[in-house]
Amino acid sequence: MNKHVINAMVILFFAIGNMGFAQVKKSPVAPNYKLLEKIINDAYEQYKDDKTGEVADYIPELAKVDSELFGICVITVDGKVFSVGNVEASFSIQSISKVFTLAMVMEEMGQKAILEKLGAEPTGLPFNSVTAIEQQATRVGNPLVNAGAIATTSLLKGESESQKWKDILAYYSACAGSELFIIQDVYESEAATNGRNQAIARLLDAYGVMYDDPEDAVDLYTRQCSVGITTEQLAAMGATLAADGTNPFTGKKIINPDNIPQILSVMLSCGMYDYSGTWSYLTGLPSKSGVGGGIVSIVPGKGAIAAFSPRVDAAGNSVRAQKAIAYISEQLEVNIFDPQSVGVK
Ligand code: GLU
Repeated sequence: MNKHVINAMVILFFAIGNMGFAQVKKSPVAPNYKLLEKIINDAYEQYKDDKTGEVADYIPELAKVDSELFGICVITVDGKVFSVGNVEASFSIQSISKVFTLAMVMEEMGQKAILEKLGAEPTGLPFNSVTAIEQQATRVGNPLVNAGAIATTSLLKGESESQKWKDILAYYSACAGSELFIIQDVYESEAATNGRNQAIARLLDAYGVMYDDPEDAVDLYTRQCSVGITTEQLAAMGATLAADGTNPFTGKKIINPDNIPQILSVMLSCGMYDYSGTWSYLTGLPSKSGVGGGIVSIVPGKGAIAAFSPRVDAAGNSVRAQKAIAYISEQLEVNIFDPQSVGVK
């Protein structure tokens, strides 16, 4: 067995028992554990020397991370963990946070209000575009670009900003099944350089689509982006989405199952920046990326594939993480639009 791989248990049990798949070989997440180990190891070996892309440096602290870090982790809905590489290195969650704050606000306000107030339309423009605000009917476009995410955060209920922040951290931690913390240096670095996000919040306020004090909303948003996670924690957060909102390790129901299809739909259409259409074409998986170098892809009902490596492309997606996830998902045949992968024989 490859020394990088931490394999939890015999996956045949998972394939037959929990997934309801009649044929072990067709279990999409884990055809069998040896094969899954081989696939993630192959992905790691194939892309570990790929130096394409640049570490995001518009947030100064991000430029300091070790650009060679590379981790891949698959977690199944029944809590089996398959890891390779630097899966315990902590990095900032950045834009991936947007998914989980959306889940919180959707729980509070309902799906209809989210659609009306925020929308679910890809902007086709970069994540921090001001032009998109001028063009979109809801102004913010969708909850996964900066404008939409800051508006989402402004919708959070709570008696004070500090209470809302505690709620965010507690919710993310519950999704990960382990306690998460802010990376203070990243927060301070981004807070000192986030003039563009402040301008976005002011513009939204002028359009009447900011639901809290713009400065407070940006501060809360900046904090949520600065939460530190490991690749394994990211995969666990994804597996919670895949498992209908229940964390596979703690067994606690965190995200309202009724909202999962809507959350995954927005991830599919908007989760990979202005590359989301191509990513969907290539993998058919709802995913979310962050400029910190993390990407998580959800295989509904089966598990999540997470990868992390700091060098990102022009859109903001980690190069190695994209390549690794695209390879793994193709090998596992987990495209959600493939009738065979969703159980049609
Ligand atoms: N905190 C980052 C920003 O607002 C998030 C960017 C991202 O990961 O897409 O610019």
